[in-house]
Amino acid sequence: MSTNIVTKLPNVGTTIFTVMSALASEKGAVNLGQGFPDFNCDRALVQAVTNAMQDGLNQYPPMAGVPLLREAIAAKLEHLYGHRYDAASEITVTAGATQGILTSVLCAVHAGDEVIVIEPVYDCYVPAIELAGGIPVFVQMTVGERGYGIDWGKVAAAVTPKTRMIMVNTPHNPTGTVFDASDVAALADIVRGTDILVLSDEVYEHMVYDGAQHQSLARHPELVKRSFINSSFGKTYHVTGWKVGFVAAPAAMTAEFRKVHQFNVFTVNTPVQYGLAAYMKDPAPYLDLSAFYQQKRDLFRQGLAGTRFELLPSEGTYFQCVRYDRISSLSEADFCKWLTTEIGVAAIPVSAFYNTPKESGIVRFCFAKKDETLRLALDRLAAL
Ligand SMILES: *Cc1c(COP(=O)(O)O)cnc(C)c1O
Repeated sequence: MSTNIVTKLPNVGTTIFTVMSALASEKGAVNLGQGFPDFNCDRALVQAVTNAMQDGLNQYPPMAGVPLLREAIAAKLEHLYGHRYDAASEITVTAGATQGILTSVLCAVHAGDEVIVIEPVYDCYVPAIELAGGIPVFVQMTVGERGYGIDWGKVAAAVTPKTRMIMVNTPHNPTGTVFDASDVAALADIVRGTDILVLSDEVYEHMVYDGAQHQSLARHPELVKRSFINSSFGKTYHVTGWKVGFVAAPAAMTAEFRKVHQFNVFTVNTPVQYGLAAYMKDPAPYLDLSAFYQQKRDLFRQGLAGTRFELLPSEGTYFQCVRYDRISSLSEADFCKWLTTEIGVAAIPVSAFYNTPKESGIVRFCFAKKDETLRLALDRLAAL
């Protein structure tokens, strides 16, 4: 008997994140590549989870998540975005946004269905579509003098009778762009009168700068009726390793979501859910997050302003994209390797976020780092 498996994901190999992180640690480089904080979360959050464990909250929770946490999520969404989700039938706690996204796609996309994704695209979207037997349809963001943007005319032109879903992400990884009201209106115009679903990845919902508002699709009466809204506590509370997030969707969509969720993870760990529910009573940690990261963004941008990098806007997320064509003509991946090896700072090539490699001469830095880490990186980058 042959034990060879015919792969379901022929295009998946070792990711650039793994490669760059390994190279960064080998060379002792400051790792501004992979997107995670190098500082700890709030001790009060750790204490809340510890309390839950010590109180014996260590067995299976309800399949959809601890009711207290689902209530807290529903209350927050209503307060911030003005839409009341029913905590019992419309909110599901997930093992991070990655599982929420996979499950949203698996429950809704059938073999041969088309799913529109916008490039540069976060790495877990396309494998999810492929596992569902769907067909990814790529629309590239435009990139000009003022940075990245979505040409909604191109998205509209990509719609066919087979389109089942459109996947969007605001604030956007890797470009740091943020939807404004006109983006949301354009998306609504495209789907109105169709049965197209929307998957909205809002894991950076609390990182929007310069006084702008996060345009959650929950705010929009047309889009909220057809959207799986995904978010992640990992991004909001500096706990990327905990892998807890949630999906909010209308009851009929949530019912299908939970059929898959039930046999894919069944439940998400109990004490972290109780800890999060207790910690969420204070809105300050998420309400203050934009100011916290905006200070880091500004520190990092001011330092880079003295180099030959050309800064693209960073309106949200904890990413800063830069053009390097005044410094080097290497490909993005080679430039990142050179930067890690010779300058001692790791970055991620934006070309890694395209299905078919596209060179824009742009790389992504993550500024979710201690100020001292950012200063060390800036000292090294000053050589450029
Ligand atoms: C980090 C990230 C995710 C995954 O979130 P987890 O909760 O860690 O699974 C999803 N989408 C985007 C855009 C991200 O940056």
